[in-house]
Amino acid sequence: MQACLWSKISLVLKAAGVPRIPVIQNLPLLSVLNRRHYATDTGEVDLVVIGSGPGGYVAAIKASQLGMKTVCVEKNDTLGGTCLNIGCIPSKALLHNSHLYHMAHSQDLKNRGIDCSGVTLNLDKMMEQKTNAVKALTQGIGHLFKQNKVSHVQGHGKITGPNEVTALKKDGGSEVIKTKNILIATGSETTPFPGVEIDEKTIVSSTGALSLERVPEKMIVIGAGVIGLELGSVWSRLGSEVTAVEFLGHIGGLGIDMEISKNFQRILIKQGLKIKLNTKVTAAVREGEKIRVSLEAAKDPNKKEEVSW
Ligand SMILES: Cc1cc2nc3c(=O)[nH]c(=O)nc-3n(C[C@H](O)[C@H](O)[C@H](O)COP(=O)(O)OP(=O)(O)OC[C@H]3O[C@@H](n4cnc5c(N)ncnc54)[C@H](O)[C@@H]3O)c2cc1C
Repeated sequence: MQACLWSKISLVLKAAGVPRIPVIQNLPLLSVLNRRHYATDTGEVDLVVIGSGPGGYVAAIKASQLGMKTVCVEKNDTLGGTCLNIGCIPSKALLHNSHLYHMAHSQDLKNRGIDCSGVTLNLDKMMEQKTNAVKALTQGIGHLFKQNKVSHVQGHGKITGPNEVTALKKDGGSEVIKTKNILIATGSETTPFPGVEIDEKTIVSSTGALSLERVPEKMIVIGAGVIGLELGSVWSRLGSEVTAVEFLGHIGGLGIDMEISKNFQRILIKQGLKIKLNTKVTAAVREGEKIRVSLEAAKDPNKKEEVSW
């Protein structure tokens, strides 16, 4: 049954061009789970996992498979956390499909002897396909919970005692869960950026950049790390003029292999992305239809520049 679900999930993933989500059985045991506790008949559970992202759902399923009575508390309506809802999965769906569009729209396919003139973009359809992939996968986690006997409690989890988690429900109600162990897997939230107010329409975080309603004429990406570049790349392939501004002297973030970084930069520039290195964004302010972006040289605060996008 589980294999069947995973094969269905991989079909959706394959269609969307996204990688498989991790298979639970092959994960190493978490050391905390080596000590097995079993539920008593007092209503207490063995483990409450707060958060259902890749950290939380994998741990909850593994714990249950090892015999622990497990509850997973998730504040969002859907399971799967950032990765499945607003991270790896939707970004990879867009990355793959924008690549196909770009190949067909540019001369690439024509040069290979595949002439498909008159290719147009249906952005709504592309977004629908991404949404369907996300829906199938997040629902898949619900099925895995059922199969593996993990109880799912929807609510904002709060640790209200050494052995107690309270799930605060959207309707104002709450559910108190007594537990032997608590695992915090609450992930991360978008960090506020000084001088930039995110409205998720014209000044967006990665979440907004996954659901734009039209292809922007121009786009500036603050930070040429992996997520900025993948989303910048998506919109560049779909026709936007994209400039990535990076504080560091290279792209790909701290710790990237320099040879990979250089080759990656070459590929992106060839694809049409503009990259501004050693530059800091100090503010981005909406002015009517445009956004005024203030830039500063990373090593010389006296070197300033203002551009309207
Ligand atoms: C655009 C984008 C693309 C990415 N692409 C990749 C990629 O290709 N490969 C890769 O490895 N990583 C990628 N990542 C990173 C990846 O999404 C994260 O590393 C991963 O989601 C972290 O998993 P997690 O379980 O720790 O946290 P999360 O996935 O953030 O899950 C935490 C969960 O906890 C819930 N929660 C928080 N507080 C509470 C509370 N008090 N009560 C109840 N629930 C709570 C949240 O609602 C959320 O569902 C990407 C991220 C982004 C934004």
